[in-house]
Amino acid sequence: MSTKTHKIGILPGEGIGPEVVDSAMMVLDAVQKVESVRLEYSKGEAGAYCIEKYGTNLPEKTVDLLKGTEACLKGPMTTPEEPGSPRSVAVTLRSIFDLYANVRPSRSLPNVTSLKPGIDMIIVRENTEGLYAGKEFEAAPGVGIALRIITKAASERVVKFALELAAKRRNRLTFVHKGNILKITDGIFKQAVYDKAKSYPDIELEDLHIDIATAQLIKRPESFDVIVTTNLFGDILSDEAAQIVGGLGVAAGANIGDHYGMFEPVHGSAPKYTGQNKVNPIATIEAVKMMLEYLGEKKAAERIGKATVKVLEEGKVLTYDLGGQSKTSDMGRAIAEKVAQSGSSSTYARRIVAPAD
Ligand code: NAD
Repeated sequence: MSTKTHKIGILPGEGIGPEVVDSAMMVLDAVQKVESVRLEYSKGEAGAYCIEKYGTNLPEKTVDLLKGTEACLKGPMTTPEEPGSPRSVAVTLRSIFDLYANVRPSRSLPNVTSLKPGIDMIIVRENTEGLYAGKEFEAAPGVGIALRIITKAASERVVKFALELAAKRRNRLTFVHKGNILKITDGIFKQAVYDKAKSYPDIELEDLHIDIATAQLIKRPESFDVIVTTNLFGDILSDEAAQIVGGLGVAAGANIGDHYGMFEPVHGSAPKYTGQNKVNPIATIEAVKMMLEYLGEKKAAERIGKATVKVLEEGKVLTYDLGGQSKTSDMGRAIAEKVAQSGSSSTYARRIVAPAD
């Protein structure tokens, strides 16, 4: 059995970040004991807490550290909202590493309240442009302008990514836009869908405006397979989709580019729960499962997915958002134990490479 070592960046983040990342690392430790995959971690600092120390929420040395890795797990971070404050770390990293596809799955899970059974959809959100391009200014006192940039090139590559995904699943792609109002920008996005879909004749296309898409997601969530949309619409729709299958505590996201992958829970730093060991770590555990899939470690990823479903099916360990009273670390440990139970154990010791100062 050949063992491959992958270099992984870990950004614990802030608020509830370090707690959920700790639990996900328990699960990663467990899977390395029973599968041939090995991970070498480099831990980095990023988040609003860095601003006082470094003058930025994403220090240069953290970016350098990530450049020496294949993928990273990013914990949630707080984003300051004052005008002139730094951009969100997630948005900056997506831009630095050109992580153009934001992949957010939502599926019904056992013992997790879901609007309907049998939901299994993935939202693919364009991740590098639209209203998140950071082109916002005050043209005159009281007159704010934000540019919504949509290009053919960025639309085509994310649409191709979504078509490839749909082709591996149920061959259905819904494209969501507001082309009746944003005729130029969303006209470019729609044209990218029509052009790229010509190479995928087996894929059934569905055309939805964003407003009706939010309603249809509630009315018939089980009918969606892959949804592709622009940046802001995807951000909003994916939080809605997460809520439909049980809330932010179980929603994970992958940010994929041609050369790097960043994996994170969809939720933020939930400051009011900081340090309480209370929130659900499943979103972050699902994120590391997606990271292993991205790294080509399919068996390890499947093992984590099955262990999570088993713990939920048993229903003995559930965090507050799922109607239970278990702690973040209880859930992490329960999933890690299920991962470890399912295979023969090998020698393993966690490897953390100390970041250079
Ligand atoms: P949030 O996702 O942090 O929390 C909203 C609410 O969702 C929480 O109060 C809690 O009730 C619930 N929740 C979130 N995570 C949960 C979990 N793991 N288990 C159970 N319940 C959970 O959203 P917010 O309050 O709007 O944002 C807080 C901060 O996080 C802001 O600064 C925001 O900018 C930032 N944020 C960061 C990211 C990111 O790092 N990618 C994403 C979203 C928000």
